[in-house]
Amino acid sequence: MRDVIIIGSGPAGFTAAIYAARANLKPLLIASSVEVGGELMQTTEVENFPGFPEGIMGPDLMDRMQKQAEKFGTEVVYDDVTALDITGEAKRVTTGEGQTFEARSLIYATGSAYRKLGCDRETELSGRGISWCATCDGAFFRNRHVAVVGGGDSAMEEATFLSRFASKVTVIHRRDALRASAAMVERAENDPKIDFRWNSTVVGFEGDQKVTGMILRDTVTGADSQMPIDGVFEAIGSDPRTHLVHGLLDLTEAGTIAVDGRSSRTSVPGVFAAGDVIDPIYKQAATAAGSGVVAALDAQAYLAELDDAATAQIGEADQPDEIERTGEVGNSQDAGDVETANATATQLDPADAAAAHV
Ligand code: NAP
Repeated sequence: MRDVIIIGSGPAGFTAAIYAARANLKPLLIASSVEVGGELMQTTEVENFPGFPEGIMGPDLMDRMQKQAEKFGTEVVYDDVTALDITGEAKRVTTGEGQTFEARSLIYATGSAYRKLGCDRETELSGRGISWCATCDGAFFRNRHVAVVGGGDSAMEEATFLSRFASKVTVIHRRDALRASAAMVERAENDPKIDFRWNSTVVGFEGDQKVTGMILRDTVTGADSQMPIDGVFEAIGSDPRTHLVHGLLDLTEAGTIAVDGRSSRTSVPGVFAAGDVIDPIYKQAATAAGSGVVAALDAQAYLAELDDAATAQIGEADQPDEIERTGEVGNSQDAGDVETANATATQLDPADAAAAHV
């Protein structure tokens, strides 16, 4: 059985892999059958990841993380996880291609998925003018008028990127103040192709084969209005990808996987979680990477406890024979040793030891 399986190939997953591999745990990282690297693969320039003063493109950053993880012995599997069995000491992971992997510990770092508006005709027109990725689809909207929905860093990033192609980019935000960081806001506000439609939500889309317009509702007056548009990019945040662990792991009210304090320990011993899937607030590449470090160190400590417990149990099994042989059951020194061995075994029982942390 393996020591550790890591699920997820974003900054949390690959950083956990780098640490686990350097600790000689020979991690297996299950990436994805579609795209390795997580959300950074759909990002343009990353200017705030330490160590890159000139900035680095998101896909390049992820490529470097993967190379670093593989250099130390991480094995990467390009498949999707479809089922988990984490109740026993052996954690079993089944993939879409029907392979099952087993490990003594599991690091869950599946990140988050783009949020959808949930408004009228959104599903029907997805991929037909409605997109969640400007770097993927922006070039299709050369000299067109596009909208970006949202007021956070993602929305500013998408709008700034789209202004390279589009004739005009309208940011639609439900309030009159942006949530995005000052640097991103400044860049968007200084871009002559970007304008802002404040206090507006999207209530529906229009168009037959592709989007031609949308219905906006003024959040102050409640009045609806129509806006002709060639394309819409939704950038309204993301939700943790937890569907595989519903009913298996405790979740927080925010929907993230619950962990014990600043650790990565989940409600199941031997299962650790890291990155956006435990983070309802910060969601940065650098915080996800740090979270991956924590998970790898926690998994390492857990495995060491399992090994110690196994050693203690062997010691405990040997002890009565020795006492019988010497016939010195009443000897206070030996009796004390047996008690210590028992106490240590109890203390280090893997399930108890890990459960005590949660
Ligand atoms: P976010 O910060 O949660 O912002 C989501 C935006 O969408 C908010 O402005 C929110 O409005 C709006 N929104 C949410 N639900 C909506 C709905 N149903 N209808 C209309 N508007 C809705 O998400 P994010 O922009 O994806 O950023 C997530 C995290 O990643 C942040 O920590 C951000 O700093 C980070 N990030 C960093 C970079 C970078 O540094 N290069 C790039 C992208 C993201 P309200 O403001 O009214 O809540």
